[in-house]
Amino acid sequence: MNSECLKELQERLKPEQIRQDDAIDLSYQKDWSSCSPVLPMALLLPENVQQVSDIIKICAKYKQSVVPQGGRTGLTGAARPSKADVCISLEKLNGIEEIDIQANTMTVLAGTTLQTVQEKAIAAERYFPLDLGSRGSCQIGGTIATNAGGNNVIRFGMMRNLVLGLEVVTASGEILNLQNKMLKNNAGYDLKQLFIGSEGTLGIITKATLKLTPIPGDAQTALCAFARYEDGVALLHLMQKELNQNIHAFEMMWQDFYTMSCSWSCPDNPPIENEYAFYVLIESKGVSEEVFHQSLEKAFEEELIQNAVIASSLREREQLWTIREATSEFPVKLSPINFDISLPIGSINEFVQTCRLSLLERWPNALVVNFGHIGDSNLHLAVDANSDVNITEEEVDKIVYQCVEEFKGSISAEHGVGTLKRDYLHHSVSPQALDMMATVKKALDPFNILNPSKVVLI
Ligand SMILES: Cc1cc2nc3c(=O)[nH]c(=O)nc-3n(C[C@H](O)[C@H](O)[C@H](O)COP(=O)(O)OP(=O)(O)OC[C@H]3O[C@@H](n4cnc5c(N)ncnc54)[C@H](O)[C@@H]3O)c2cc1C
Repeated sequence: MNSECLKELQERLKPEQIRQDDAIDLSYQKDWSSCSPVLPMALLLPENVQQVSDIIKICAKYKQSVVPQGGRTGLTGAARPSKADVCISLEKLNGIEEIDIQANTMTVLAGTTLQTVQEKAIAAERYFPLDLGSRGSCQIGGTIATNAGGNNVIRFGMMRNLVLGLEVVTASGEILNLQNKMLKNNAGYDLKQLFIGSEGTLGIITKATLKLTPIPGDAQTALCAFARYEDGVALLHLMQKELNQNIHAFEMMWQDFYTMSCSWSCPDNPPIENEYAFYVLIESKGVSEEVFHQSLEKAFEEELIQNAVIASSLREREQLWTIREATSEFPVKLSPINFDISLPIGSINEFVQTCRLSLLERWPNALVVNFGHIGDSNLHLAVDANSDVNITEEEVDKIVYQCVEEFKGSISAEHGVGTLKRDYLHHSVSPQALDMMATVKKALDPFNILNPSKVVLI
């Protein structure tokens, strides 16, 4: 870093707000992706929006690149610095500014963890619907910057649907006020949407106003098994109709995933034998047990499902979820190459078969498992690199993303692009749209100082 730039930062911040070399903990050198750690030039820990603005003004003056960091739980390398970058952690901009019970909103500083937001909402007898496995560490700023999805998307949408207003520090260091509490607001371009999902490349989010909902009622949970993918899609539509859209999870597991997961979590007593081609974990909240049972009976009558178990206690519900959440065991039990893709719901199974065939043609012994939030058109696919010595991540990426292009899907459903997916973006984004993304980036960050080399190259 230019010594003048460092000097100006030192004049503006307290000594403990600037860390260098050994004082930068390893956790700031990477995110949760497979990317290896990199020591940045410095780690800055601003305490308020004015300091974020001052830092960016100084960095802009010296064309010093900066990487905004939230909880660093991202899975695409987006929060990992290069050695020429300065990291700005938002962790000290943390706390709830206001809960407006009448407007059903919560205004929160960017460094507040998702779990804190969820807990504060419940304490105010409201609910904040975004929920991810990383809730204890990921921050609201990071979940907005990645447009996170997670468990309740089928019911409440992604983060984009839950943000009403923002405060953002731009690439020139200006504090841009996009705060808003209203559901309806068509006063010109909806600029906040530009920053949602921009992965720190267009601005630094410092504050957000979030939409709250009533607390949903108790959960009704069932695991169903069936033979044909089309029946799973019909089941989704039937349940949505019967349960008045109150489905919070519709998690499909292909037989390979289900068999593997049960062999880990309940080898002697799987809730349903592994003889079916498909399994789906359905969770509904706010409907009575009776209505839930009736809708499953209807699904049986229409021959959409062949077997089902309904959780009758919290323990049984957790046992069913353990099967779906076997993914948390992946890093321990496999050497997984993970994909987070989306496809039109009607083509997902055909994609699974075609992609599997292409992978097995290349590596006949490859272990490939499929599962996903099918109601959100989101498929997760994992290839175990340990299943064949010749498997390389690069080759698997090429095969899978080529297949995604053929099926008109998206190479990133909810995890974003970062650096890991940047070079595959053309498989699901048209050349014109890629050009427009670069135009937007150049317009908002002409010196390319905000998280350069992430998402799009300019
Ligand atoms: C166990 C686990 C489960 C997960 N489950 C899901 C899931 O179900 N769905 C899902 O979508 N994701 C999931 N993720 C991925 C990850 O948690 C999300 O991407 C999350 O939104 C990242 O938040 P963060 O605060 O950790 O951001 P970081 O990882 O720190 O940063 C992510 C990106 O946002 C930028 N950024 C961070 N803060 C700001 C800010 N204030 N202003 C501007 N840019 C900023 C960074 O520069 C980077 O580009 C999971 C991750 C883990 C480890």
